[in-house]
Amino acid sequence: MTDPVPHRAEIVVDVAAIRHNVRILKDLVTVDGPVQLMVVVKADGYGHGMVEAGEAARDAGADWLGVATIDEALALRAAGDRGPLLCWLTAPGDDFAAAVAAGIEVTAYTLAELDEIAAVGPARVQLKVDTGLSRGGASRADWEALFAAAAAHEAAGRVQVTGIWSHLAASDQPAHPANDAQEAAFREALRLADAAGLDPEVTHLANSAATVLRPSAHFDLVRCGIACYGLDPAPGVTPRLGLRPAMTVRAPLLMSKALSAGDGVSYGHTWVADHDTSVGVVPVGYAEGISRGAGNTASVWVEDSLRPIRGRMCMDQFVVDLHGELPPPGTEVVLFGPGDGGEPTAQDWAEAIGTINYEVVTRLGGRLSRRHVDSEEQDDDENENPGGTTR
Ligand SMILES: *Cc1c(COP(=O)(O)O)cnc(C)c1O
Repeated sequence: MTDPVPHRAEIVVDVAAIRHNVRILKDLVTVDGPVQLMVVVKADGYGHGMVEAGEAARDAGADWLGVATIDEALALRAAGDRGPLLCWLTAPGDDFAAAVAAGIEVTAYTLAELDEIAAVGPARVQLKVDTGLSRGGASRADWEALFAAAAAHEAAGRVQVTGIWSHLAASDQPAHPANDAQEAAFREALRLADAAGLDPEVTHLANSAATVLRPSAHFDLVRCGIACYGLDPAPGVTPRLGLRPAMTVRAPLLMSKALSAGDGVSYGHTWVADHDTSVGVVPVGYAEGISRGAGNTASVWVEDSLRPIRGRMCMDQFVVDLHGELPPPGTEVVLFGPGDGGEPTAQDWAEAIGTINYEVVTRLGGRLSRRHVDSEEQDDDENENPGGTTR
């Protein structure tokens, strides 16, 4: 980051990185045929900003956007999004009528949900079958009844079944037997749907990991979330794709100070200096969604070096080892970023604290501000390229 160091901790999201990743994924799935790409922007775009991520995705050729809840889908519509849009996590009492009126495709797991949607139809509805995740979706025993009811509603003009889909349990472990079993079960569901007279426009099963690792699971459409943000859906397994992390989290150093051997750091003195050193104070903490597990495990980037976090993560701040240096207040501290400058990545943080990169970026909040930059647009300005992008 070359921008001036902010006064407060901030999240910076490069929308050009999201466009870049979406183009890579779109190219990947269309090599062998016309597979559509849904970019999943639920949970505020995995912490990257739902509306901005959705715009970047559409710009880069996403055919669909996907979100969990009707509220998320309505917020996208309110922000001006008009393209194909699916949501899949509804609760009793949700406003299906508002979703249908806004041209949002909703998902039915059960007969009760299907009837509720049909009552506010004509509605475009997708059916979710549980093929082995044992989470949402119709159980195997209920598939035929759901398909028959959907066909009857369709014949009466109350719904149009536009999609049938499912979700994988172990797509980040390509050799896990659940993958073959779920794909076979999904194919059986599609046969039963066909026998019931349904003819959906799209069938889909793959998330990011299956998109990258399991071409047989692509069907008509893939639903990619994490990979669009440039994070690895299956660390250690994913081939090199050139994805670029879109998020940087950075903060100003509040102060630095010398410590003597024997000085304990932060609550409980879980770290004690065994030699003279110096430490710096960084003004973000677990109230910002920085895991408390980062205490004594994760590292940050200060003045071109990795600096380990010392002692416990506090609510509002943490302490890093500056190895005897005393950089001035306001020095940039990068918690994580794309990694190409040497700074840690969200994946590094995930490994340090024992979680997955999804959680590292999605849980951020508290007092962090967030802004969006466009590294491609900046290049165009610098080159004064008259034919540059104008979006
Ligand atoms: C979140 C989600 C996805 C995206 O998964 P990634 O692993 O982030 O690609 C796809 N499908 C469903 C149903 C989801 O809930």
